Amino acid sequence: MSKVYGQGAGAVHALREVSMQFRRGGFTAVMGPSGSGKSTFLHCAAGLDRPTSGRVRLAGQDLAALTQKELTILRRRRIGFVFQAFNLLPSLTVEQNITLPQRLAGRRADKAWLAEIVERTGLTARLRHLPAQLSGGQQQRVAIARALVARPEVVFADEPTGALDSTTGSEVLGLFRHVVNGLGQTVIMVTHDPIAASHADRVYFLADGGFAEVLERPTPERVAERMTLLGRR
Ligand code: ADP
Ligand code: MG
Repeated sequence: MSKVYGQGAGAVHALREVSMQFRRGGFTAVMGPSGSGKSTFLHCAAGLDRPTSGRVRLAGQDLAALTQKELTILRRRRIGFVFQAFNLLPSLTVEQNITLPQRLAGRRADKAWLAEIVERTGLTARLRHLPAQLSGGQQQRVAIARALVARPEVVFADEPTGALDSTTGSEVLGLFRHVVNGLGQTVIMVTHDPIAASHADRVYFLADGGFAEVLERPTPERVAERMTLLGRR
């Protein structure tokens, strides 16, 4: 798919015919220097924005064929989102934050599933706390639990450790690994951090809006080396 922002002389080609496929039940990182198109890619892949050309298929559906309303429903039911800013509502408890998307969709959270997610995200003792009473890492765990509650086809994360120190960041990355391995969840994470990317099964690299390369079984050293080379291009 391609994405162009604006028109004429001021047009920005944010994505140039980028084509990627993601394995179900895999943990994939999308990596690239700042401005390489990572967030644009994530927004188009997750149905938050539409590509200028090309197609996105998700859960057997061509997103371009959906109306805005259908897209909203698909996002709510089939996709989980985790962002750098945790986006929790400060006046709601941890439990209320986690179940909010379900309540907005007019659905009741499955109790057993909720208990499992809460357990896996290590939040059992925190359910009645407010976000302000939690550390940054715990708040991001709440956001991850919230993303999982609808049993989404895929969880998209945009720089999920960007606001965390390295220790809490690695805890959050360990949690993604845990939900991929333990629940068969598909996770696609955008990051510019080689250590974060090294937690994934494979890493796609973007440079100047184009697909550059793919790395299987990444290590922080190998990811950092590729990034240095891409930065020099
Ligand atoms: P990354 O997430 O890798 O830092 P982005 O996807 O945010 O990169 O941006 C890719 C390119 O598209 C950049 O040149 C950026 O300035 C441009 N861009 C992103 N969003 C917009 C927008 N809404 N309007 C115009 N240009 C944009
Ligand atoms: Mg970005």
